[in-house]
Amino acid sequence: MKALVVGGGIAGPATALALAKVGVDVTVLEAWPRGDGEAGSWFTLAPNGLHALDVLGARHLATALGVPSERNVMLGASGAVLGNLSLGVPLDDGTVALTLKRSRLALALADEAGRRGVEVRHGARVVDVSLAGDRAVALLADGSTLEADLVVGADGVHSVVRRAIDPTAVPARYVGLTNFGGITSNTPVAAGLPARQWHFVFGSRAFFGAHPTPSGDVVWFVNQPRPLITPDERARRSHEDWQGELADLFEQDAGPAAELIRSGRLELWADNTHDLPSVARWSRGPVVIVGDAAHAPAPSSGQGASMALEDAVVLATSLRDAGNVDAALAAYEKARRARVERIVAAGARSSSSKIPGRAGRAVRDAMMRLVFRHLVTERSTAWITGHRVQWEPSADRALPSGA
Ligand SMILES: Cc1cc2nc3c(=O)[nH]c(=O)nc-3n(C[C@H](O)[C@H](O)[C@H](O)COP(=O)(O)OP(=O)(O)OC[C@H]3O[C@@H](n4cnc5c(N)ncnc54)[C@H](O)[C@@H]3O)c2cc1C
Repeated sequence: MKALVVGGGIAGPATALALAKVGVDVTVLEAWPRGDGEAGSWFTLAPNGLHALDVLGARHLATALGVPSERNVMLGASGAVLGNLSLGVPLDDGTVALTLKRSRLALALADEAGRRGVEVRHGARVVDVSLAGDRAVALLADGSTLEADLVVGADGVHSVVRRAIDPTAVPARYVGLTNFGGITSNTPVAAGLPARQWHFVFGSRAFFGAHPTPSGDVVWFVNQPRPLITPDERARRSHEDWQGELADLFEQDAGPAAELIRSGRLELWADNTHDLPSVARWSRGPVVIVGDAAHAPAPSSGQGASMALEDAVVLATSLRDAGNVDAALAAYEKARRARVERIVAAGARSSSSKIPGRAGRAVRDAMMRLVFRHLVTERSTAWITGHRVQWEPSADRALPSGA
């Protein structure tokens, strides 16, 4: 079987590794030229995602690039602790989570796929996918076409493949928050932050997260509630403008946010947060979507990449175990849809809690304390991070492969 995977982010190369493992001949088509892996921001892989990487024999790649993360500590604008949660159900070796740069992981996975016989083409933008009998044809921006028995859209939240499957597909939804990410190198603040922890601040005007690294840097991000940032505004404003505005948001709040932002370097800026609560069609003929293309959560869920890695395993095991492509794609969707939509919904709730309401600071802090004591707890989130996709076929015939 020949497969084309559209997208060389996280889902694409992971799907390529998984498909190669079941004997599929795979080509990955990534729109952008090969970069140095330094663009963009950091993210955290939860234990369920690390387990999926383990299944693909690729966890060592993330371990080499990542910083161990174990807990999230939530603080109010005054510095009061509102909650303290583990990042999830640990793996058997005790690993909880890893924080690393998204683009470094994408490149490492793509290189690993290349070592395992997958062709990875950078600078290959797919503009459309159509059906030709029981095969599919991808049209590239340079006018060339490629035909395959399976096309997997791993092309992110604004997926072209999703629209090819269903031209009426609902576009991604703006959740009212923007993302900015940066790093402050070699800062004394790093020593003052507990190691292996995300330090989150529900600030009076925006949300802030910071994580120290063993080398004395601090990785941080800001979610600013505001209307969508237009391409024109993004092009007009300099990093200094943005950093000045972001630091001002935290000037009245306790903690090192303003200092870290002013003295740091922006790596991700003016990024509008979108999510996709429910995509009506995941496949048409031999064309299917995975990762953010099918179910983008708001970044607040901390699960987008982990869900993409789970998808890769489940899609490949479904293809291995079902009699044909139609049955495999149906089994994949059946195994995945309810779980991922539930996680996207949880991510949307967590995003809205980052937007300061009209209630005063003390009322909000009291509410958040209750939330972290009773609603969002290690127990209540164990179904998310304790999930383990399986490579071996299930002995229980009622369960789809991989679930
Ligand atoms: C600020 C921020 C913080 C986040 N934090 C976390 C976190 O802590 N934990 C977590 O698990 N997730 C997090 N996420 C979400 C996570 O980054 C995504 O869920 C994950 O990257 C999804 O992987 P993907 O491969 O589906 O999509 P993407 O990573 O978006 O990759 C899609 C790829 O497809 C390529 N592409 C697009 N269109 C085409 C085309 N037409 N032809 C060819 N190639 C194309 C793109 O160039 C890109 O390389 C965060 C997201 C953001 C924005």
